[in-house]
Amino acid sequence: MSRIAYVNGRYLPHRHASVHIEDRSIQFADAVYEVIAARGGRLVDADMHLARLHRSLAALEIAAPMSDAALGTVMREVIRRNGVVEGFLYLQVSRGAAPRDFAFPRHAKPGLVMTARRHRGPAARLIEEGVGVITLPDIRWARPDIKSVSLLPNALGKQQAKAAGAFEAWQVDRDGNVTEGTSSNAWIVTSEGDLVTRQADAGILNGVTRLGVIGLLRREGLRLVERPFSVAEAKAAREAFLTSTTNFVLPVVSIDGTPVGNGHPGSITRRLRQAYEAYVAAQAGAP
Ligand code: PMP
Repeated sequence: MSRIAYVNGRYLPHRHASVHIEDRSIQFADAVYEVIAARGGRLVDADMHLARLHRSLAALEIAAPMSDAALGTVMREVIRRNGVVEGFLYLQVSRGAAPRDFAFPRHAKPGLVMTARRHRGPAARLIEEGVGVITLPDIRWARPDIKSVSLLPNALGKQQAKAAGAFEAWQVDRDGNVTEGTSSNAWIVTSEGDLVTRQADAGILNGVTRLGVIGLLRREGLRLVERPFSVAEAKAAREAFLTSTTNFVLPVVSIDGTPVGNGHPGSITRRLRQAYEAYVAAQAGAP
């Protein structure tokens, strides 16, 4: 099945899909996006992703390209046309195309792009054995809570992680505290068994997976503490893990080469991964 992209009202063959050279996403990264998982051909937590999309749009004063009902229709259609049962939908809204000028154009129409692809999620080996992360300075702008496409620092960080043989880079603020990964939220489990993740202020993207996991904690009898944690605390933690739409819950077993706990995925992390998978499976419906 050949891939189909949605671009400003049209469904096009993926290889021919393009936006105007003066779309502001290209020149100013003046656009926001969402990545939504599909399971059983259905979108996971689409309402939470749409709510975050609206927060990002409002923060940048970009108008919604269409109603949520219409967006939902296009989202499902892109998934369907690409035959995606398990995979991801990418959705991007830009301020639109206009002659290049820093100030907002008066009459630009928001641009809407969607693509979808099949993907099975992280390799079983990564789930079973866990992954390593490196730490590096958080060099992003002061509003990473807005899910904008200005992802250059994230791309640089991920590339540094890859070059170091690590899966992800945990970014660190000026106080020595971990903010988040380049494309995931960061968590640790303390020796008391508390789950710690940074509070969702302007310093991190409030992950939909982060929120989904938080929603499961009470039933799991686990205590959540939203606060900053340092790299030293993370290295000395009992367990660590990351959360994202593309990886769900993934154990982190080393930080800058230092093993976390016994260097194997921890029991709480494993439990949370299972609980989150069940939560997603319930949305996907019976196979
Ligand atoms: N932080 C950053 C910087 C990200 O790019 C992502 C993934 N988009 C996340 C966290 C995780 O968010 P979500 O669970 O919504 O995928």
